[in-house]
Parts: sequence; structure tokens; C-alpha cells
Amino acid sequence: MSVSIDLTGKTALVMGVTNSRSLGWAIAEQLLKAGARVGFLYQSERLRADLEKLTAPHPGTWIQEGDATNEAQLAALFERAKTEFGTLDMLVHSIAFAPRGAMEGRFLDTTPEDWNTALSVSAYTLVSAARHAEPLLNPGASIVSLTYHASQQVVPKYNVMGVAKAALEAATRYLAADFGEREIRVNTISAGPMRTVAARSIPGFGTLYDKGARNSAFGRNATSEEVGKLALFLLSDLGSGVTGQTMYVDAGLSIMTVKEGT
Ligand code: NAP
Repeated sequence: MSVSIDLTGKTALVMGVTNSRSLGWAIAEQLLKAGARVGFLYQSERLRADLEKLTAPHPGTWIQEGDATNEAQLAALFERAKTEFGTLDMLVHSIAFAPRGAMEGRFLDTTPEDWNTALSVSAYTLVSAARHAEPLLNPGASIVSLTYHASQQVVPKYNVMGVAKAALEAATRYLAADFGEREIRVNTISAGPMRTVAARSIPGFGTLYDKGARNSAFGRNATSEEVGKLALFLLSDLGSGVTGQTMYVDAGLSIMTVKEGT
């Protein structure tokens, strides 16, 4: 039996793309290959030219600048999605941010401002985006976000970002329950360490990345393409019946304590 994923006629909005290394882009590549039409949210004007180049080879794509924490800009994004697509089948949330200071010292010293920023940008925007998307979502639509294992175990320096990811995972379950009646699915992908702009800004990320490669079951880190493929599964009909879940794509890193010989 052969299975092919055809997303021709389906529409997707990917929130949070900086460049070709972004996990949002890795997911979009899979959706585009399967024939979907894709719109993108990016945060800063300085990225426009690069994103235009990245999306130019793909007819039917569009990009829109906006801050996901700004309700008016979020409303404008979904208005654009309505104009471009009419309805939406897939929503990808690939956004996270914590102030650098909150990831350098002790978790104990997290300020209320840094706490609010990290949770607002990295977790609440999933909820607000889902709410804005609701009127556009077709029955059977699918929402996917990106999380990290620091939500479950202490990872040095992740600090308030670990808490934000725990909130994102819990929000995934509550959203899945709210959307359940229409069989709209909400899941989050827990990715292993990947070299992206956001990751490089985390103190000690290089060491974490190298350790990940040594200690995982596969003896390497997962790739952004593998994240894209899991997202394709969850966003397409292949993932029907799966909702409210945190699914790992980390080459078997989170299952290991210490690997023999490392
Ligand atoms: P990335 O390329 O830097 O993507 C993160 C994106 O979030 C950037 O485009 C960033 O825009 C955007 N963003 C931040 N605040 C925003 C806001 N208020 N409004 C709109 N966009 C905003 O890095 P990435 O690693 O692919 O991150 C994507 C997701 O994967 C994040 O949720 C991250 O936590 C998760 N993740 C990453 C890893 C990893 O090792 N890389 C592992 C597990 C999970 P700017 O560039 O303008 O700041």
C-alpha cells in the first residue's frame, strides 16, 4: 500500500519565520511540497526582503508583518488570511521569546516583567491565535505548535522558557478540548535542539546541542526536516484522531538518562 499526502486546495498559516533555518520554514516546506497554499507571519521589517526571496518560488504564498502579542496586528493577520484563502485548514505556531537576562542567571531571580513577556509571547499567543483563527477554521482543521523538553525537566538556563513551554503544552490540551466537538485538532511538537536563530541566543546552546548529539538513542540530533515531517503528519488527515498531544521528534534524546560510553 502506498500513502501519499496531497494537500492541494488546503490552506495554511505559519506564524514565526525568520529564515530558512526556522522550524516554521521546515514545516512550510513540507506543506508546500504537498500542494498547500501557505501564508506567513514574520515579526520585523528587516526580514521582509529575505522572506520574499524564500517564498518567491512558491506561487500562492504571501507574507505579513506583525507582532503576535498585538491584538490589532493579529486581527489584521487573520483578516488577510480570510481575504487570501477564505477559510483555513492548518495553523502553525512557531513563536517563542524570553528576555536574555531571564536565561542567564537563576530561575529564582526571574522578574515579573520577564515572566510575563516569556509566557505572553511563547504561550498566550497560541491561545489568541487560535481564537482569531476559529471563525476561519474548517471542520477537521489542525493546529500545531513547537515546544521543548525543558517543560518537563530542568535544562540549565532555560529557566522561565521551560515554564512557558509547560504552559504551552497545557494550553494545547485545553484548546484541544474546546475545539473537540468540531474535530479541530491541536497538538504540539517537542523538538530536540536545532541550530536556529532563537536557539543560538540561549546561553550554552552549543554545549547542549553537542551533548544531545552524543546522548540521544540515535547518537545524533533530530533534524528540522524531521520536525517538518511530523508536522505534516499532524496537520494532514493522517493525524486524524490525534489531539491534545505533545509529540517528540528528538532522535530519542528525551528517553535517555545517560548513554553508555558517553
Ligand atoms: P526562529 O527561527 O528564531 O523562530 C522563532 C520565531 O518567533 C522568529 O521568527 C521570531 O521573530 C518569532 N517571534 C518571536 N516573538 C514574536 C512575536 N511577538 N510576534 C511574532 N513573531 C515572533 O527559531 P526556531 O528555533 O525555529 O523557533 C520556532 C519554535 O520552535 C519556537 O517555539 C521554539 O521555542 C521552538 N523550538 C525550537 C527548538 C530549537 O532547538 N531550535 C527546539 C524545540 C522547540 P524574530 O526573528 O523577529 O524575533
